[in-house]
Amino acid sequence: MGKVIAIANQKGGVGKTTTSINLGTSLAHQGKKCLIVDIDPQGNTTSGLGINKGDVEVCIYDVLIEELSISNVVLSTDIDNLDLVPATIELAGAEIELVQTLSREQRLKRALQPIQDDYDYILIDCPPSLGVLTINSLTAAHTVLIPIQCEFYALEGLGQLLNTIRIVQKHLNKKLEIEGVLLTMFDGRTNLSVQVMDEVKKYFQQKVYQTVIPRNVRLSEAPSHGVPILNYDPRSRGAECYLQLAKEVMANGR
Ligand code: ADP
Ligand code: MG
Repeated sequence: MGKVIAIANQKGGVGKTTTSINLGTSLAHQGKKCLIVDIDPQGNTTSGLGINKGDVEVCIYDVLIEELSISNVVLSTDIDNLDLVPATIELAGAEIELVQTLSREQRLKRALQPIQDDYDYILIDCPPSLGVLTINSLTAAHTVLIPIQCEFYALEGLGQLLNTIRIVQKHLNKKLEIEGVLLTMFDGRTNLSVQVMDEVKKYFQQKVYQTVIPRNVRLSEAPSHGVPILNYDPRSRGAECYLQLAKEVMANGR
């Protein structure tokens, strides 16, 4: 059975989408069969993988709300071993619509069950909130990977995220574990980045990945070309680091 990893942090712009796309691609590159589920109404993972959202006829919204089978929504990508469940702006209504739905927190978990054996890894790119879509992701996941941007205020709001994880563990998904904490957009020339790194390590200790993702302009350029970093610039630091992260995630096992 595939390992389901939610990539979550309710802060926007911390590198959730960049990590979903590039960790997914790097795992696929190592021969692992991967699925990325885009559950953010912004659909940045969808467009970042070169899929025109205007062409997407059914998306994760139809799975969560209309109970369409997820296999009808899975798209193959240009990358070997990598599939995608896309999201479009239609999903923006789901937060509200799900509130009135029976077993609303379990929808994604149930939807994934029939295809879970088809993949080694299923990564869920969460939206920047702790609403019902993120709760669905944490309920469906075996583990949660938390990207933290090495900037001022990075740690603010982390308590809320950890609290939400605890609530999910208590009521919805007892086995949910923290997969790891990933430092992103690290700039070794600034004291601030180093300070954030020290604080995060003090708090999360061995849960922090050895791999640190540097601030790398190639990583920020790749999405506008609709390709992951491994296709855009395989020799960049960004590409190297995400491959390294994939190896750490694989070494983590289950
Ligand atoms: P989130 O999904 O958490 O909102 P994104 O992955 O979309 O965050 O990243 C926010 C912005 O920062 C995007 O424009 C992205 O291209 C850029 N970005 C992400 N990681 C890096 C990095 N390591 N170096 C430079 N830019 C990055
Ligand atoms: Mg995002």
